[in-house]
Amino acid sequence: MTQILDPDFRRGDDPGALDAEPPEPVVYAHTIPRRLLDADAAKVIRRLNRHGHTAYLVGGGVRDLMLGRKPKDFDLATSARPYEVRDLFRNCRVIGRRFRLAHVLFSGGKVIEVATFRRDPSQHYEVIKPKIAKKIPLCAGPEPVRLIPARNAELDGEDADLLITNDNVFGEPHEDSIRRDFTINGLFYDLERGEVIDFVGGVADLEEHLLRTIGDPNVRFREDPVRILRAIKFSARLDMGLDPAVYDAMVRHRSDLRRAAAPRVLEELLRFLRGGAAQRSVFLAWDVGVLSEVLPEVASFLDDDPEGAALTFGRLKAIDTLAAEDRLPNDAVLLAALFQGSIDDALEGATDIPVAYEEFIREFSLRLSLPRRLKDRIRLLTMAQRRLRAGRAQSIARREYFADAATLFALDRMARGEDLPAWANEPSEALYDAEPRSRRRRRRRRSRS
Ligand code: ATP
Ligand code: MG
Repeated sequence: MTQILDPDFRRGDDPGALDAEPPEPVVYAHTIPRRLLDADAAKVIRRLNRHGHTAYLVGGGVRDLMLGRKPKDFDLATSARPYEVRDLFRNCRVIGRRFRLAHVLFSGGKVIEVATFRRDPSQHYEVIKPKIAKKIPLCAGPEPVRLIPARNAELDGEDADLLITNDNVFGEPHEDSIRRDFTINGLFYDLERGEVIDFVGGVADLEEHLLRTIGDPNVRFREDPVRILRAIKFSARLDMGLDPAVYDAMVRHRSDLRRAAAPRVLEELLRFLRGGAAQRSVFLAWDVGVLSEVLPEVASFLDDDPEGAALTFGRLKAIDTLAAEDRLPNDAVLLAALFQGSIDDALEGATDIPVAYEEFIREFSLRLSLPRRLKDRIRLLTMAQRRLRAGRAQSIARREYFADAATLFALDRMARGEDLPAWANEPSEALYDAEPRSRRRRRRRRSRS
């Protein structure tokens, strides 16, 4: 990859921008292997370009492509306004009240999200030189620019509340880039030119495997504490080091997570579990003292019971094994596996198991605003474990939830290094374990009459 400073960098149209001339990004020539690219995302970009709009791949998609990983989703950012996008695509709908986004729909339920470049009106940008004078292997020329957000001074009172409130003003690419959370998430990819556009030093940080916030981590985590969970997720999943300033700020502001929106916290916890690095994510969250803010029951169980902790991490590792085989369990199984040790602990010696369980799960579901459906499902799967452990698989083998219960059971067995019964791999086996065919048939006939 070579660095080119691009003199023809195109401007978006934004009369409201504070700065007269947009800053120059660093542009890297970079070819993305065709097998990793999404043909539909490429189509959307080309059509926007043909109609005179700037359109880039953006965010996690660019990051994953640069790391040679296949992205989960392909998000686009464009100079086109949402209604302009809608007018260009038949299969498009504009969603959101406050943040208007265009969704372009393709077969198989695929959605390409197209967002207009936005800026944070309370911020302007500052240019900084990288503090660490390291040799950055990608750059033959000057060191990368790093734009960072800086608060407009007139807005700052003594204890100005930093939580983001207005995030929906159209802007230019550099403004869109600096409102993002981490430098590795602030890159744009220009598909037609095969170039990565970098305003924030993200390419250098990808090369260094270093997770840095765009700007002061203390400010960025106070603006949005969920970014602390995202830092853990990226560090664990992408095996990236945490910039020491980021680590310190995570520790300093972790208690702010208590006032973060519960559904967003739940979503990030689920992403810990789904992302192929469940074990590392939860371990890091525990280690940094973040787990005790979002799941205090699980954190204190891990603190107090080293054997239980080893088993819990074993179950999480088993989740990662299944994820690597493309057999990721569903959300209810994932959460049940995470809670299992603390649940078993809470139920030990209880005389009324259902009541003790309800007491235990109530706290969780309130704190995480667990949707009812998920809460009920976790209860069902957890309670089923008692029968499975007692060797009574056949008693629930016909239940619709049996396959999920069997998966949860399998995760536990894998954590213990024990062999799996045949039905844990192939749930339909449980039927044959139990009853000879003739008896099953007879019973079904009788129940019909
Ligand atoms: P994942 O791989 O888990 O989907 P992601 O980086 O793609 O991670 P998304 O939640 O899909 O994250 O968001 C897409 C992009 O939006 C991010 O890459 C980042 O640029 C931006 N973004 C998301 N959440 C935040 C946030 N809390 N603060 C600032 N920018 C954010
Ligand atoms: Mg994403």
